[in-house]
Amino acid sequence: MSNFNEERVLSVHHWTDRLFSFRTTRDPSFRFRSGQFTMIGIPVNGKPLLRAYSVASGFYEDELEFFSIKVQDGPLTSRLQHLKEGDTLLVSRKPTGTLVLDNLSPGKHLYLLGTGTGLAPFLSVIKDPETYERFEKVIVVHGVRHVADLAYSEIITEVLPKDELIGELVRDQLIYYPTVTREPFRNQGRITALIQSGKLFSDIGLPPMNRDDDRFMLCGSPQMIAEVRELLDAKGWQEGNHGEPGQFVIEKAFVEK
Ligand SMILES: Cc1cc2nc3c(=O)[nH]c(=O)nc-3n(C[C@H](O)[C@H](O)[C@H](O)COP(=O)(O)OP(=O)(O)OC[C@H]3O[C@@H](n4cnc5c(N)ncnc54)[C@H](O)[C@@H]3O)c2cc1C
Repeated sequence: MSNFNEERVLSVHHWTDRLFSFRTTRDPSFRFRSGQFTMIGIPVNGKPLLRAYSVASGFYEDELEFFSIKVQDGPLTSRLQHLKEGDTLLVSRKPTGTLVLDNLSPGKHLYLLGTGTGLAPFLSVIKDPETYERFEKVIVVHGVRHVADLAYSEIITEVLPKDELIGELVRDQLIYYPTVTREPFRNQGRITALIQSGKLFSDIGLPPMNRDDDRFMLCGSPQMIAEVRELLDAKGWQEGNHGEPGQFVIEKAFVEK
């Protein structure tokens, strides 16, 4: 049996000239945990061209959703950005990844720190009712360069709070903190700077970061990850892994080449 399901593209949404999302059918046998990624792609010259992608849809949804960059000379995304309804997408049957709740020890506040498309895994995490059972407050911090890059902001602030399954949990427990680095906006600055200065915590009305109560999931640019990791390491926080829960977990949203 092939390691891939062939899914059909149901819709495509272009956020900007660098960001788009698409939804596909979902083989009922495809199971994943909130926060995981899988390999997806398209056949090129008779061979599958694949890249790692976080699943952005909820684990209980009938469709799959992905949130993608467009790299103009990128082997996959130079092609993938032209996806149309009805096209076929290959989706590996073997999702994996470290950004799962079980890799974190119990805490009160779950900080989901994402830059750019690093928001993708957190879209599935914030749709999972278990996230709200385990944590009193769930904070999505999305760092981008331009205001237009704040994809999904209306979904997080307008659609999810009205959702039949998780609306009440989202209204009571989810805090959305978008921040922009290259344009005026109500929250400005890099995620690392907002943590270091303590502004993030005072802006959202939660106590300064502390190892007993706070848990972090990080996904985004290699630079953001390196900086936040350094900060957490210096404070003696433990990274979580499969079988060994810790105070933070990390997934690079892409690898610099
Ligand atoms: C665990 C994991 C999960 C990932 N999840 C996603 C996801 O949900 N959505 C997504 O768009 N990509 C994601 N990626 C990146 C993805 O696998 C590809 O790199 C991306 O689709 C570009 O593919 P490409 O073949 O066009 O270019 P590549 O040759 O893969 O990349 C070319 C260059 O583009 C830059 N780049 C690649 N991806 C990004 C990105 N997402 N944001 C900013 N710059 C980037 C890097 O500098 C890279 O060296 C993930 C990567 C990993 C390792």
